[in-house]
Amino acid sequence: MSQREQFPTTSTLRRAVLTGSAGFIGSHLAQALAQAGTTVIGVDRRDSSTDPACAANLAALRGHPRYHHVTADLCNCAIDPLLIDADAVFQLAAIPGVRPSWGPQFGDYLASNVLATHRILEACTRISVPRLVVASSSSVYGATDGAPSAEDDRPMPASPYAITKLAEEQLCLAYAERPGGPNVVALRYFSVYGPRQRSDMFTHCALHAGLTGKPLHLYGDGRQQRGFTYIDDAVAATIAAAVVPTAHGTINVGGGSTASLLDVIDIVTTLISHDIHIEQDEAISGDVLLTRADPTRARKVLGWHPQVDLHNGIHAHMQEMATTASYRCRTVQPHKL
Ligand code: NAD
Repeated sequence: MSQREQFPTTSTLRRAVLTGSAGFIGSHLAQALAQAGTTVIGVDRRDSSTDPACAANLAALRGHPRYHHVTADLCNCAIDPLLIDADAVFQLAAIPGVRPSWGPQFGDYLASNVLATHRILEACTRISVPRLVVASSSSVYGATDGAPSAEDDRPMPASPYAITKLAEEQLCLAYAERPGGPNVVALRYFSVYGPRQRSDMFTHCALHAGLTGKPLHLYGDGRQQRGFTYIDDAVAATIAAAVVPTAHGTINVGGGSTASLLDVIDIVTTLISHDIHIEQDEAISGDVLLTRADPTRARKVLGWHPQVDLHNGIHAHMQEMATTASYRCRTVQPHKL
C-alpha cells in the first residue's frame, strides 16, 4: 500500500506530533486535538519554567492525560523517537514576524523555519509518517493587485520571513514527491487572531492599548487590509488538513473577515467605549497593503467554512485578555459571541 493510502479515515487522529505547541496557534491546536481524543506529543523549545507566555499558553494542557510536552530545539534534537507511531505531524514551529526578519536575525529564521523543517522531513521519511501538515503563510503572496490570492497565484514574498515560509512549504512539497515521503498539506494562514495571540500582532496590540490606556504604535496609515482568521477557525482547518484523505498541496486558511487595521481599532474602541491613543510610525518594509484569501480550495477540499466574524472574534479575544492580571478591564459593551 502506498503512503498516500494509509491516512486515518476517521475525524480523530490516534497520535500526532505537534511542533510549536507552546505557541499561539500550536497551543490551541494541541488543546483541540487532545480534547478530541488524540494523543499529542507537543514539541517546543520554549520552557514554561522560564517563559511566562509559554506557561500561560500551556496552562490548560498541564496534566492533561493526552498531552505530553517535550522541551527541545528542533534544530538539533533527536526527532525520530518522537515520530514513532504518529498518524500525522503538525509542523508549526517557526520564528514568525516580518520586522525582525530583516537584519542579523535572519540566520535564526533560516535555522528554525527551513533547516529544522528539513530535519523533520528526513525523519518523517525514515519513520514513514503518512502525513505532514505544515504552517505556511499568506505572506508568501507578497503585494497583490487587490484580487483575492489563490493558491496557484505566483508567490512574490516581500520580506525575509516570507521567503523562509515559501522555502519551507516548497521543501515539504518536494519531499512529498519523493518515494516514501509524507503526504503534505501546506496551510497558508492569513492573520490569525484570538485569545493568546502573540503580543507582537496587531489585534493584541490594539486591545493592549485599549485595556491599558497606553499608546498604540500604528505602522503606516492603518489602511492596510488583512484577511483576519479567528483561531478556532484556523484550528478547525488544520485538523481537517490532517484527516481529509484527499487533502494535499497548498491551501489558504483565510477568508473569515477582510478588514483594515483602522477597522480593528474601530471595533476595539466600540468594545471598550473610549478612544485609543495612536502613535503613527513609518510603514514596515515587507508589510504588504492587502492580504485577502480566495478560500475556494479550503471550502472544496477541507469542507472549511470560517464561523467567527471579526467583531465577535475580537470580543472573545478581549474577554480573555481582560481576565489576565496585567489588564484592568474598562467598560465592556455587553455582547454575545
Ligand atoms: P508562535 O511564535 O506563537 O509559535 C511558534 C512556536 O514555535 C514558539 O512557541 C517557538 O518557541 C517555537 N519554535 C520556534 N523555533 C523552534 C525550534 N527551532 N525548535 C522548537 N520550537 C521552536 O507563532 P504562531 O503565531 O503560533 O505561528 C505558528 C505557525 O504559523 C508559524 O509557523 C507561523 O509562521 C505560522 N503563521 C502564523 C500566522 C499567524 O497569524 N499567527 C500567520 C501565518 C503563518
